[in-house]
Amino acid sequence: MPGCYDSYGLSWRSRFYMPEYCDVAVAVPLDATFTYRLSDGLLPVVGGRVLVPFRQQRMLGIVTDLHDRAPTAKAKDVISIFDSSPVLDAELMRLGRWISDYYLAPVGEVYRTMLPLTAEFKRVVFYRITQEGQMVLHVAGASGSSGRSRRSPQEQLAEFRVLDYLNARQEAREPGLRTRTGASKRVLAGMVRKKWIVREDQSATRDSSRIVRIAVLRAGLDDGRKLNENQRALVETLATAGGQMAIDFLRQLEAPARSLDSLVRRGLVEILEKPAGFRMSAVRPRRQEFQFNLAQQRALEKIQETMKTGTFGGVLLHGVTGSGKTAVYLAAMQSVLEADRSAILLVPEIGLTPAVAADLHQNFGSEVAILHSSLSDAERAEQWHRIRRGEARIVVGTRSAVFAPVSQLALIVVDEEHDASYKQEETPRYHARDVAVLRAKMANAAVVLGSATPSLETYFNAVKNKYALIELPDRVERRPLPEVEVVDMRQEFQETGREQVISRRLAGEIRERLDRGEQAMILLNRRGYSPVVLCRTCGKRLECKNCAIALTHHKQAHKMQCHYCGFVAPVPRHCIHCGSEYVNFIGTGSEKLEELLHGMFPQARIGRLDRDTVRGREDFERVLSALDDGQIDVLVGTQMIAKGHDIHGVTLVGVVGADMALGMPDFRASERTFQLLTQVAGRAGRGDTPGKVILQTYFPDHYAVQYAAQHDFRGFYDKELRFRSWMHYPPYSALANILLRSDKLDEALRWSGVLGKWFEATEHEGIRVLGPAPAPILRLKRDYRYHFILKSPSRGKLNALLRKMLAYAASQKIPRTQVVVDVDALWLM
Ligand SMILES: [Zn+2]
Ligand SMILES: [Zn+2]
Repeated sequence: MPGCYDSYGLSWRSRFYMPEYCDVAVAVPLDATFTYRLSDGLLPVVGGRVLVPFRQQRMLGIVTDLHDRAPTAKAKDVISIFDSSPVLDAELMRLGRWISDYYLAPVGEVYRTMLPLTAEFKRVVFYRITQEGQMVLHVAGASGSSGRSRRSPQEQLAEFRVLDYLNARQEAREPGLRTRTGASKRVLAGMVRKKWIVREDQSATRDSSRIVRIAVLRAGLDDGRKLNENQRALVETLATAGGQMAIDFLRQLEAPARSLDSLVRRGLVEILEKPAGFRMSAVRPRRQEFQFNLAQQRALEKIQETMKTGTFGGVLLHGVTGSGKTAVYLAAMQSVLEADRSAILLVPEIGLTPAVAADLHQNFGSEVAILHSSLSDAERAEQWHRIRRGEARIVVGTRSAVFAPVSQLALIVVDEEHDASYKQEETPRYHARDVAVLRAKMANAAVVLGSATPSLETYFNAVKNKYALIELPDRVERRPLPEVEVVDMRQEFQETGREQVISRRLAGEIRERLDRGEQAMILLNRRGYSPVVLCRTCGKRLECKNCAIALTHHKQAHKMQCHYCGFVAPVPRHCIHCGSEYVNFIGTGSEKLEELLHGMFPQARIGRLDRDTVRGREDFERVLSALDDGQIDVLVGTQMIAKGHDIHGVTLVGVVGADMALGMPDFRASERTFQLLTQVAGRAGRGDTPGKVILQTYFPDHYAVQYAAQHDFRGFYDKELRFRSWMHYPPYSALANILLRSDKLDEALRWSGVLGKWFEATEHEGIRVLGPAPAPILRLKRDYRYHFILKSPSRGKLNALLRKMLAYAASQKIPRTQVVVDVDALWLM
């Protein structure tokens, strides 16, 4: 009976199903996955890595699908399978697809960003000879063919040697090939172009499975039997080492293997296997007892309730500076751990200092994995594996920690959710806060967004009841918020007859603090000595060679530097345009402010915190603890000082040139100014003595300045929201910035014209298209830049149009890497 046969056939097929093809996401700037054939019974897993040929290389990719649908073009074969189980589970795969769709980012590049495992591969470059190469070698001789390019006799000789060398073997690695033949990289590249040889990138596996065996002393299990001398020595050694030690290390102490074995048999010592690089830590978690005020207690309860529902829930924790938000996060994470589940805490780039790490270790012991920007690739991979194995269920880290492979996710906390470092400014241009919300939704977990100055988007969502809004309106221990005094610098100019950096009022307040042995912080959000060099004869400024940006004078380092691309030039004695010697150094940066303060207060100990004095988080921490220990009287700095910890001795915050951002052609300028002013003001008066803030400005009537001075977030929010509504900006519209860039001006101009015409001719109802226009910074890092801004109340419509635009750009041969699509762009510069 045919029916019987069918059902039999079906079950047979499903039991022995071997797919013929797999789709692979490769980390290349192309909006597609690629289909490969599976030969020889290869059976990869979805979410696992495979090695595949791609163009002239071999690359690792993530398997996204297994199927039998033959592609239209002939599919190449998968070379090998890298993982027997997925490295990205179904949830993270789905999250990756969402990011790719939402941000219009190539899916292979998204998955690469999600997986910090580059350390496991070393790239090896191989060369092989082609049939064409063999023809050239045997028939014509390397010198005789392809007459178009003029090559020197030495180059021709090198080419011949390369062909000869490769003809004798299957393949050769690059360094060996070059030393044997004397061929330069250029010669090799030329031969690859002529198709005489092929170049292959082979990813070689590093030993990622190396295991360290550790002996751990099990306390309180004495079986009453006596220990012999060797055994006792071993136990004592282990005890002094804090209870555990690598076995290789024990062996170096000449402890006999038999003694260890017998201790293990008797249950006095346990052998654990840990991955290589695992750091033994004797720190056991010491759970903190929190002393909460009523508002904090209610916040914690609300978060715990949300987690208990087992469905998604979002909470905005809006707490003024110094209201004890961090303690609430820690307590919530402790309850996650007690429920045997996992939590992720995201912190801004600069927020993860060694002191914070030490706190976390103290609280969570080895249950915490800390991911920060100064980890090496290998360390990052090691932490990733620890999290994956479930050894660390509390993950704390910057932006990319949102992809941590935890299971049983219960909670994601985004601290300082308004911070710009959560947005990645390269492909994929995701915002970690928004990805956190989506991941929590997929996992039916809770998400907590915390800030003293929430972003307009987040607060809007809370007001619209998308998130529960919890307010912490008071500082801990009922400390008052600092009093803010606004100094009008226009008036200061009129009264003193000169442009002042530090007003008389601020100078007086600093003097008072010095007399009383208290501390002050002065914010000037611009580093270097002078931001502009101007010629008084021809009126031109000294600009960067690569960017349309003025070079900043750094006096101590004795150089001119571009703060966008890092370009360095000598300090000019003459104008480079007209040769005049009347070059003026204009304006004040943090370096000059420090010098000025030294002049005004010679007895004061002055420190500076900016990217010139701080290289890594250790430097940052060192300066802050010097302040905390009272070794610094006045700390000068850029916005870095707004993100410090509680320094109890700081009773004065001075703000110098706080309103520079207000002049920028960017719709977020007011919001950024309000946030910076509020955050830096929040550093004052965190100890027993109330704080004071002196806010110098040329725009004393601007609402961002006014509301910051009154600690009135809600007032600022309402006013700013009206402006956003009129101008159709977020949160009322979804926004995307499209940037066309090229190192050739005419090319950038032509491409933007091509897309401009296409937008005109294409139906885009409900979407505003502005542009093409030159970007506010026309030239950056050698690229000329033109842009479009797209706004729409419908994100679906916006993304559909962007997708069509990308397809059209590809059809017009505009390289994908030169069309930057930035969805929810933070910067329009
Ligand atoms: Zn000049
Ligand atoms: Zn530059």
